[in-house]
This record gives sequence, structure tokens and C-alpha cells, in this order.
Amino acid sequence: MAEFTSALGADGVAVITWDLPEKSMNVMTMQGWDELEALIDAALADEAVKGIVLTSGKDSFAGGMDLNVIAKMKDMAGDNSAKGLFDGIMRIHGILRKIERAGMDHKTLKGGKPIAAALTGTALGIGFEIPLACHRIFASDNARARIGLPEILVGIFPGAGGTTRLVRKMGAMAASPHLLEGKTYEPKKALSNGLIDEVVPGDALLARAKAWVLEASDADLVKPWDAKGYKMPGGTPYHPSGFMTFVGAAAMVHGRTQGVYPAAKALLSAAYEGALVPFDTALKIEARWFTNVLMHPSSAAMIRALFQNKQALEKGANRPAAEDQSVRKLGVMGAGMMGAGIAYVAANAGIDVVLIDQAQEAADKGKAYSEGLLDKGMQRKKVTAEKKEAVLGRILATTDYAALEGCDLVVEAVFEDPGVKAEVTKKVEAAVGADCIFATNTSTLPISDLAKASTRPGQFIGIHFFSPVDKMMLVEIIRGAETGDRAVAKALDFVRQIRKTPIVVNDARFFYANRCIIPYINEGIRMVGEGVAPALVENAARLLGMPVGPLQLVDETSIDLGVKIAKATRAAMGDAYPDGTVDDVLFWMADEGRLGRKANAGFYAYDEKGKRTALWPGLGEKFAPAEVQPELSEVQHRLLMAQVLEAVRALEEGVLMDIREGDVGAILGWGFAPWSGGPFSWLDMIGAGRALEICEGLSERHGARFTPPALLAEMAAQGAGFYGRFGAAAAA
Ligand code: NAD
Repeated sequence: MAEFTSALGADGVAVITWDLPEKSMNVMTMQGWDELEALIDAALADEAVKGIVLTSGKDSFAGGMDLNVIAKMKDMAGDNSAKGLFDGIMRIHGILRKIERAGMDHKTLKGGKPIAAALTGTALGIGFEIPLACHRIFASDNARARIGLPEILVGIFPGAGGTTRLVRKMGAMAASPHLLEGKTYEPKKALSNGLIDEVVPGDALLARAKAWVLEASDADLVKPWDAKGYKMPGGTPYHPSGFMTFVGAAAMVHGRTQGVYPAAKALLSAAYEGALVPFDTALKIEARWFTNVLMHPSSAAMIRALFQNKQALEKGANRPAAEDQSVRKLGVMGAGMMGAGIAYVAANAGIDVVLIDQAQEAADKGKAYSEGLLDKGMQRKKVTAEKKEAVLGRILATTDYAALEGCDLVVEAVFEDPGVKAEVTKKVEAAVGADCIFATNTSTLPISDLAKASTRPGQFIGIHFFSPVDKMMLVEIIRGAETGDRAVAKALDFVRQIRKTPIVVNDARFFYANRCIIPYINEGIRMVGEGVAPALVENAARLLGMPVGPLQLVDETSIDLGVKIAKATRAAMGDAYPDGTVDDVLFWMADEGRLGRKANAGFYAYDEKGKRTALWPGLGEKFAPAEVQPELSEVQHRLLMAQVLEAVRALEEGVLMDIREGDVGAILGWGFAPWSGGPFSWLDMIGAGRALEICEGLSERHGARFTPPALLAEMAAQGAGFYGRFGAAAAA
């Protein structure tokens, strides 16, 4: 079935409609390009056609390139995959350039046929690059639509002319938030940002676009860069003002990405080099850089993790078969930091919430947290007064357990104390119906132990949110020993309702995310205790693409929490406890009252306003940096392997059941170097053999915690990759 169709009206306007069969949103496929080109050719050649409107048969225009196709493009390109990719991209440029030139005479710039894009809704990625090649862009006034070029967020960049066209249209400075940050906008904002030309009521969209096509003059069809005397807004790189922009942008991009994201650098290079040459040469340069990015293992890994795998998990890849478990009424126990956040995200998703704390005042304070977030949203014009009222209207703050009647899910976020949690479990179960699923948000207590307080352990589960709940996209669902399938389905359906990304893991100490993040923090602290300069530790982490160094991270989560976890772990492990050096530093910090950001004093120093100023000099006085400092790569390998080996062990022990969850969970849960696609993707990138070699060296120099897990050794011996071995099974 056709993806594009064309219909010629009595007015002489050919309406080309994009309507991918059996999909709710258009995405561009190889077949789609063929069809679009054939229809454009036919319309340009047909004398009866005065102009063209390109639109969509759906309530959105297009979601972008089919990212699955991009992931496959390289493989399909045969032996010389770079050449295959480059040729494929140049073909796309050819089609879009044909639209842009629309049959006009290149010398006189006359005789072309007007082509307008009529966006019925969301137009992202290639779905916006095609309109950028048209002569005028109309969008329906659909406030839910998103328009923009978010490619950079999945490790590529707008490589179908979007980069070159936008820089030439508005100048490098103005284009940079759209290109480098991947920001997307609702139509009115897209209009005020200069991305589109007109916003039209939905029912008048097509008529308005057709009217424009019929009125357009030859001059309306000529893009500024095709006209004589074109000057780039803001100046080209060698123009004094342009120079400033490019120097600033290069520094900013490097500062933000630490050079680990190939796409940001390639984007900047395409913009810079492209600005120095004529338009068609700039497209060729853009295509070279785009090929370069597609050839980089990072882009494939990022697309796989942040697009394919994330989406598969959100669609319920690991949901047990059970009828729809959407939550209608949610109980939240404990209106502290986590409970208040959970209540907010649920109410925001349209779920009725009963928020309970010990005192009415505490419950009200928890509800006030939602009010604060909604007020902020209103200030930013993202939330209307009606929406605020509706969301707050869904939250009942109370101390009365009787209000829980009718709840089909209760999430407890009371103090991290087994006794308190057991009492709450019992009281809740007495107040709710027999079908209700009970979830705990504990971050450290084993689910199977907490379930002992329940009379219905099959309906008892862990739903572990990350802080701050409204911002963090990952939710870790933990199956206890007796947790049943319906509880897992309930948790997954709830996570889908609140539009977050779930992973499902088995019960074990610290589950998955904390299990990996604690060794990262500990390795950083341990190095300080050994005399590694704290700045080297922090910078090594940032240069790996970790969003925060281990010392900053422990300041954020608080030193006393670290002490508490260390004490509990030591009690549980006894003599096997390996983290003595860590505790020397951590406990001393706690004794000094340096409890982290909340105390305005931790591994970092803070000013009165709570702003981090520098690493705390007192640290170096107590733990003097050694005369000879280790190589950067040694510090980096320690920080990376501390996390990665834990992920491998979690897989080996069956805590993690799906490596896709391991990768997505790592990136969304604790910001594991997103450029790598996650710990398993990173291992596949360097190869199990090389990983083994690194670990053997580290374990010799630093101890048994780096001893390679048997699974890794086995993979190295077989020359196997994690996705090769586990990926297909997980996807099935
Ligand atoms: P918090 O101290 O901010 O909030 C706990 C709330 O529970 C308080 O308002 C308290 O009054 C209330 N409470 C205590 N006993 C109660 C009872 N018997 N009945 C009703 N309410 C009661 O703690 P928090 O940081 O929100 O953590 C709550 C839970 O979430 C803990 O289990 C914690 O391990 C877990 N968790 C915390 C984080 C985090 O970053 N803080 C992250 C993930 C999970």
C-alpha cells in the first residue's frame, strides 16, 4: 500500500498526502522516499498542476525518520558501508533539493511551482526537515503538537539538510538551541521562534495552504541562500560577529559534552564548514558528517538504547499476560519527599490519589508540593489554571485510612524502617479491598522481607522511584520471591499511565540501579582515601560522560545516607565487607558535619545560597594527594568498571533479566554515560576480551572487586557480544 498519495484538485493544486498504512504516526521509510520523489516529479512535470501542498492524512505530520531504518542503513550498505550511507543521504538531499528548486530555472530563478507544507500536528526530525525544504510552512493550531529537530537527543543530528537549512535561515546563534539542544515547540512557539511561517486553525489548514500556493509569486519560491547576494544572518565564521558565535558555540558544546558525543561535534563541524561554502557543497559536507556519525558505534548504541529499547520497554516488552491493570485510584502512604512526588505524577496523569501521612499538616504539605510544581508550570505557561485545579482536585490529603477504600494500588513511601513499613502494610491491607496491589518504594530493604508483613505476598511488589520523582524518567519494578504476575502488570500499567520508563528486576540487595551506583560512588571516595586528587576523580568521571562525578553525587544524595548504607551493608556482609577505605573517608566527613549539599558542606564547598563553589580544601589536608598521580585512563577504568561489573553480576545472578533493561535503566536511572548506550552496549563496543584484560589489570592493582565475573570471561573466550548473545532472546 502506498505511503504517499497525490490528488489534483479543480483549482490546480496537487495535494500530496503522507499516510503510512497501519501506523498512528508517519515515519520516513526507504519506500516513502521513492514514492515522494515519484509524486513530486509527476506533479512538477504535469502542466495541469499549478502548485503542491504536502500534508499528512493523520493528526500529526511525521515523527521523523524510522530510526530502525537508520540503525539498519549501515548494515544494508554492504562492504563499503560509509560509501553506501553517504550515497543514500545524498539521494535524500537530491529529493529535498528538487522540492526546494521546484522546477525553477537556476539562472533566472523563475518558473518554479510553489510547494507548501501543511502540518496537521507534530513534525519532528525528518518530519520537519522536509517542510524546511518547502517554500512555506503552515501548521495547524494544535497545542499538543511538537515541532523541531530532536535528533541530537538520540545521538545523531539533523542530517537531511535540517542543519544546513536552519543555520542559513536564521544564523548559527539562533539555530543553536534548536539543533544542539534538540528543543521542540508547540506551533505558536515554533512560529515565534521563526521555525514555521503561519499557524492556522486546523479546519482551515489545507484551504490556507492552497490559497498561498495559488497566490505565490516567483520570488516567494526562492530561498535566501539561492538568491543573489545572500548573507548568512549573524555572519559566517570569518565575519567578526560570526566568528564570536562559532568560537563560543565550540567551547559551549565541548564544555557540555566533554567531547564524548560524536554527534554534537559533527553537527558543529557541518554548520561551521558548511557556512564557508555554497549551499549545495554545504549539503555534501553535512552528508559527510552525518555518515561519520552513523558510522560511529555511539550513534547506533544510543539509538538502540534511547529509542528502540526504551520504547520496547514502555510498550510492555516484559509485561506478563494479564488483563488491563490501569490504576483508577491510588493510595500513597507517606507525604514526604518521595510520596509527594508520586502523588503529583499520578494526579497529573489523571489518577485519583489519596495521600496519607501521620499528621494532617504533613499530608497537606505533601499536597502543597504539587501546588508548587503546578504554579511553576503556570509561570512557564505550560500549565493552565484549569489544569492546576483539576490536578489538585484529584489529590485528597488526609490521615484517614478509610479514604483508601476503592484503591486498586497503594504505594508506600514512609520512613525507611522495616517496623514502620510493616505496620503501614497491615493497616493498609485492612482498609483496602482484597484485589488491591501493595507496592513499596523502599530503596534498600529487600522486597521479599517486607512482604512478610503482608497477608497477600502475591500482591506485594517494589515500585522504586528516583528522586526527584517528577523529573526522573526511570521506575524500577522489583519482583519479590512471591510477587505474582498481576502485581507486575499493575506496576507496569501504572508506569505507562504516568509516562515513565519501567524496568523489571528480581529482588536482591539494592536491586539494580543502586547496586551499580553505590560502587561508583565508593570507588571515587576510595580513591580520595588512597591519595588520588579529588579533582582528578571528578574530572575523570565527567570526561567519561557521567553527568556528575562520584563526589558530587554523594554530596547530592547526602553523606549520612552513605554512612547509613555502609553500616547496614557491613552488618549484612560481616568480614566479607570490602569497603573499609571508603568508610575512613565517609565516616570522617560525617564526623566533621559535612553531610553534603543539604548541609551546605560536603566534598564540595558551597556559598550561603547553596551554590557549589569548589572542591573542599579541607579534604586535601586530611587525605593528602599523593606525589605521583595515576593516569587518567586508570581512574576512568576504575570508575566505569565499578558500575559495569555490577551490571554484569546482576545479569549473571538473574537480578537483571533483560540486558535492554540494564542499558536503559543505567542511562535513565543514574545517567550512565549515555553516549555509550549503557553498560552492556559499552562492553560490546570495546569487546569482552578487552574488558577482561582491563579488569584483570585492575584486580591485580586494586583488589578482588575487579575480578572479572565468570560470565564476562566466558564471553571473552567465545568472542561473543552481550547483544549477540542476549539481545535476540530479550527482543523475542
Ligand atoms: P521522607 O522522610 O521525606 O518522608 C517519609 C514520610 O513518611 C514523612 O512525611 C513521614 O511523616 C511519613 N510517615 C512515616 N511514618 C508514617 C506512617 N506510619 N504513616 C504515614 N506516614 C508516615 O522520606 P523519603 O525520602 O520520601 O523516603 C520515603 C521512602 O522512599 C523510603 O523508603 C526511602 O528509602 C524511599 N526512597 C527514597 C529516595 C530518596 O531519594 N529520598 C529514593 C527512592 C526511594
